Amino acid sequence: MRAIRGATTVASDCADEIKSAVKELLDEIFTVNNLRLDEVVCIMLSNTSDINSYYPAKAAREAGYARFPLYSSLEPEIEGSLARCIRVMILCERSKAVKHVYLREAKSLRKDLTKVLNIAIDGPAGSGKSTISRIIAEKLGILYLDTGAMYRAIALKCVRNNADYADKDAVRHLVNDIDIKVDYRDGRQITLLDGEDVSEQIRTPQVSLLASYVSAYSFVRTKMVELQREIASKFSCVLDGRDIGTNVLPDCEFKFYLTAAPDVRAKRRHLENLSKGVEQSYEEVLKEIEERDFHDKNRAVAPLKKAVDATEVDTSDMSIDEVASLLLSKIEEKI
Ligand code: C5P
Repeated sequence: MRAIRGATTVASDCADEIKSAVKELLDEIFTVNNLRLDEVVCIMLSNTSDINSYYPAKAAREAGYARFPLYSSLEPEIEGSLARCIRVMILCERSKAVKHVYLREAKSLRKDLTKVLNIAIDGPAGSGKSTISRIIAEKLGILYLDTGAMYRAIALKCVRNNADYADKDAVRHLVNDIDIKVDYRDGRQITLLDGEDVSEQIRTPQVSLLASYVSAYSFVRTKMVELQREIASKFSCVLDGRDIGTNVLPDCEFKFYLTAAPDVRAKRRHLENLSKGVEQSYEEVLKEIEERDFHDKNRAVAPLKKAVDATEVDTSDMSIDEVASLLLSKIEEKI
């Protein structure tokens, strides 16, 4: 279940204005959230005490929002609060992120909810980025963009085409007409390579290692960074990767850099692999992680490094919950 919030204002306390303002607000919320009537549990509205000529709930019912319980209440008169304001909270059955809508003068109420919020989480493999990013995105009701999946999809294309990763021209040729997209199903990212869902196929050890080779090519990064920036400009999201804070979104307000000792990261990845049935010994995982770290940190273009304004967190001795709470508290301090 999710709560979608919204608010708007009317210029005068007149029935027609209230009716059209409520309709405009609800229509906008349904449109931007792609919300269906059967997903809605109830709609609660309230209005400031300077609005008397029409019930917002009645206006909502007349606008076609009538299949579920509607409730409206009067807000207390508080000095300095926004005049002639109508607020709404919609409870709906959905797990994916929702968008809140603030119109007219009410835009000034929640700048944090109306502007796009981006959170950058960088760090080496196994530092806990993806688990933490997923939890934070879920808690904040925003998307999680796994940027590594895009580089993995390119690596998979190389494998499928028997292209040698060291042959720059061969990789360039493949990347020129590659079609990589991400979509969301039930709140989870799926990665599409030339239209095919490859979310599972990109998780093999072979693809992991190859991704760190192909991601070093500048033409690969230019293409992927463009796509990442486009998504980040449209949607509030947590982006995890290697260069989000330094290169993809250098002006991002929230930047974190997660680290952990190599043996801890290898143990985590080894356990994760075992749970997925991927056969790879601990020693092999450690070797792969060290090799990837080396490439990612030493490549010429956008290497893995902490942005100067990122908060560094060593997760070696921390539980997932501890890391997530720490990051969430830092984010909530600012929004
Ligand atoms: O995060 P993940 O392990 O899925 O990333 C796979 C590889 O993709 C990394 O080892 C890295 O070389 C590359 N990558 C990158 N920049 C990002 C995300 C991943 O270079 N923003």
